[in-house]
Amino acid sequence: MATDLLIHWICTATSHRRTSELGLTHHEGQWAMCPELIGDGHEWFDTGGVDVSDALARWEEVVAASAPQGTAAA
Ligand SMILES: [Zn+2]
Repeated sequence: MATDLLIHWICTATSHRRTSELGLTHHEGQWAMCPELIGDGHEWFDTGGVDVSDALARWEEVVAASAPQGTAAA
């Protein structure tokens, strides 16, 4: 089996972050990962083609960088 699976897209849509377990799908004819495989509204981030573990790390970076902070009601 091929182990050189490359992820070209990761979905960073805020509404698609209900889980940190990314699922594999396709986008633009290439492998993509999104935690919310159903529905629409994906926001695809072009990774340039990285392996699964790098894609996961990249996704976590993007999510952490854009995660809302201090949203608790005053
Ligand atoms: Zn998505």
